[in-house]
Amino acid sequence: MQFVALNDGSSIKTLQIVFDLSKFTDEQLKPVTTGSSIHVQGELVASQGKGQSIEIQARKLEVYGTADPEKFPLQKKGHSLEFLRDIAHLRPRTNYFSSVLRVRHALAFAIHKFFNDKGFYYFHTPLITASDCEGAGAMFQVTTLNLDDLPKTEDGKVDYSEDFFGKMTSLTVSGQLEGELGATALGNIYTFGPTFRAENSNTPRHLSEFWMIEPEMAFYEIEDNMDLAEEFIKYCINYALEHCADDIEFLAEHFDKELPARLRFVVDNDFVRLPYTEGVKILEESGKKFEFPVYWGVDLASEHERYLVEEHFKKPVILTDYPKEIKAFYMKLNDDGKTVRAMDVLFPKIGEIIGGSQREESYEKLQKRVDELGLTGMEWYLDTRRFGTVPHSGFGLGFERLVLFVTGMQNIRDVIPFPRYPKNCEY
Ligand code: ATP
Ligand code: MG
Repeated sequence: MQFVALNDGSSIKTLQIVFDLSKFTDEQLKPVTTGSSIHVQGELVASQGKGQSIEIQARKLEVYGTADPEKFPLQKKGHSLEFLRDIAHLRPRTNYFSSVLRVRHALAFAIHKFFNDKGFYYFHTPLITASDCEGAGAMFQVTTLNLDDLPKTEDGKVDYSEDFFGKMTSLTVSGQLEGELGATALGNIYTFGPTFRAENSNTPRHLSEFWMIEPEMAFYEIEDNMDLAEEFIKYCINYALEHCADDIEFLAEHFDKELPARLRFVVDNDFVRLPYTEGVKILEESGKKFEFPVYWGVDLASEHERYLVEEHFKKPVILTDYPKEIKAFYMKLNDDGKTVRAMDVLFPKIGEIIGGSQREESYEKLQKRVDELGLTGMEWYLDTRRFGTVPHSGFGLGFERLVLFVTGMQNIRDVIPFPRYPKNCEY
């Protein structure tokens, strides 16, 4: 007998094929190597061996394509994730990545289902934008100008009137501002699309191209926003636990024994809700030596966020009411004049997974903030407040941060099929 483990990509489990050597020659079986593709006909029978309940006793074999074991980079033994990152065009064929990709699919589907079931509309925001004041991160410029021979204006600057769109344009860092236009028309909307940030942050939590989900809801105050964020993320994790049990079990076994407990920890606990000011006080009084200093007004680093979640509260935390200086211009100012109605959802191992806020709906206050910061080209956005303004809120979830959390992988580059990061743009 010769045994072959057949996998069609639909499951982490393989189907055992049994070749009876009295019916098949060595010559016939030789091209059936790791990575080759075959067509088998035979009898599906209860398995006599251990480790599987059924197997196929092969009658007929056709080899579509053999993978030369001398040259095929994937072997039966396990490979390091770093090695696999260098052959990202082949890594979906490994059991690690097929598991991650199936979980990724399930989560994407869960997200659409969650919002659709709640009556939210899927709203498509543009990828190319001329608005440079979203402020969420450095942007990739989009141009068809000849960089070796740039048209110049009289004062020596690049003449963007000659560029494709007649002005300077970039890839979007967030669909939120346009999402707000959708919410003031359709009520509740969500976006789910690619987002680009040219930040040179070589961290295990940042990509240059990632997918973001941004719901935006008319008539929602910050409390409603927090309720939705908590319900949403628990729904997604529960969906994966229910639909990807085999894959999560496999990933837990190979990478992260605590993964199932960590997922349960999130779905079974109420998230702690805490103002930034109190969070900073806890950090200052913790006596813990942090790499980055903590004081009121600082933009918290991942180590601070994780301390609150993992060591202090031992629960996911929603931190609210951040100093206005470290948050975006559109967030609603609190009565203290110093803090804004921001809400960041902090998770174990990841730190920030969601960033959101109640938006400033007052035309006068928003215009004042826009002037203070010297932002231009915002007339279209200010129109949402100028005409029939409405209290509203929303948040952004980085899709890959969610996939990272649910799969227990360590590096965000390992949860997207073709990662883009500084100095890397293969395939
Ligand atoms: P961070 O402080 O981690 O850089 P941020 O404050 O820049 O995050 P937001 O602008 O609030 O993030 O974006 C919303 C969400 O998008 C974040 O909560 C995070 O989940 C995700 N996100 C942001 N930047 C990236 C990135 N470069 N790669 C992957 N996901 C990201
Ligand atoms: Mg950032």
